[in-house]
Amino acid sequence: MAFDGDDTLWHSETYFALTQQRFTALLSPWCDPGETADRLLTRERDNLQSFGYGVKGFALSMIETAIEASGGSIPSAALGEIVDWARQMMDHPVDLLDGVEETLDGLQGRYPLLIITKGDLFHQESKVAASGLVERFESVHIVSEKDPQTYGRIVAGLDLTSPDQFLMVGNSARSDIEPVLAIGGQAVHVPHDITWALEHAKVTPEVPVLEHLTDLLQLL
Ligand SMILES: [Mg+2]
Repeated sequence: MAFDGDDTLWHSETYFALTQQRFTALLSPWCDPGETADRLLTRERDNLQSFGYGVKGFALSMIETAIEASGGSIPSAALGEIVDWARQMMDHPVDLLDGVEETLDGLQGRYPLLIITKGDLFHQESKVAASGLVERFESVHIVSEKDPQTYGRIVAGLDLTSPDQFLMVGNSARSDIEPVLAIGGQAVHVPHDITWALEHAKVTPEVPVLEHLTDLLQLL
């Protein structure tokens, strides 16, 4: 049984959303909030290929958006401020979601547990270490993309007779649910209040959807 990290075990998107609010305010002399959000999202999507997921790519996308939206007139001090926000996000303590520890306690010894998390290696390793959860997991997989190939490779390395013995639990339909179903695995969707626009996807109707992670014990 594998768990996603960001917004499944610990908070993440909340900090991106708060930083984006500050960014919108910073750009308000040049750009209205809706346009800033649109420009930033476009830039993030274009930059995924170059910078991957995570805070550093987000910061570079904010800097590019700021330069572009201000027609090059954004002061360098404002760009320095964006870099400071990125540092604050990287250094932010890891806040576990409610019920994570009790859920993992309930699963301990019943299933081998894995973490499969996507993004910047350095930041994800720091978050896994700071979560205090690492001893509860048999293995931790930090990947750059959660696609069927990635899941297929991880599942092939497990001692399973068929992929349907693999269950993924996560908040993102696009990253945690659909690619797992595509390789014949099982998935449980635990949506988070805030989901990044690039993670939205249609969820296959048969997939169980839980309001809280703690509901997993009952479902199993
Ligand atoms: Mg997630």
